[in-house]
Amino acid sequence: MITSEAICADITTLDVDAIVNAANVLLMGGGGVDGAIHRAAGPDLVRECMTLNGCRTGEAKITKGYKLKARHVIHTVGPVWHGGGNGEPELLRSCYANSLELATKHHLQSIAFPCISTGVYHFPADQAAQIAVEAVRTFSQVPSSLQKIIFCCFSEADRARYEELLSQ
Ligand code: ADP
Repeated sequence: MITSEAICADITTLDVDAIVNAANVLLMGGGGVDGAIHRAAGPDLVRECMTLNGCRTGEAKITKGYKLKARHVIHTVGPVWHGGGNGEPELLRSCYANSLELATKHHLQSIAFPCISTGVYHFPADQAAQIAVEAVRTFSQVPSSLQKIIFCCFSEADRARYEELLSQ
């Protein structure tokens, strides 16, 4: 049985098998949650990322967690919002689905997601949360090592939004 919950926290502090990073295609670190994860993990993270040849939008790659409490980081690249008619919803869905698949492949039991694409990539928060919850629900129907999925929000408004969707 997979349980999912929404919390409001700094994702870099979580003790889980993997935290997901809303990375960019170069996997070289950046601002927002990406910058916070790289700062907390230390410079070995970017060194490992440099061996991965970047990551396409919607895809996911895994590294170790280094100085983080989390054992792994799953780097996924969310779509930049250009109005919604450029495949943004499908690409965001793929971020969640591919991250969950990768976690399963590595036999992980717990994973935490930030609100991918809803920062500087400007994906509307409501729609993004809906896609995230739907993707997790779809995934939960197939057997997996995963037992706990956390939506790690960075604002009380986002947490409330997820809570509402999860209760439906
Ligand atoms: P993107 O480029 O995918 O939009 P951002 O990092 O700009 O990525 O924002 C994605 C989400 O991560 C936003 O909701 C932002 O508030 C949130 N965020 C930023 N820092 C953290 C953090 N330390 N822990 C959890 N979420 C964070």
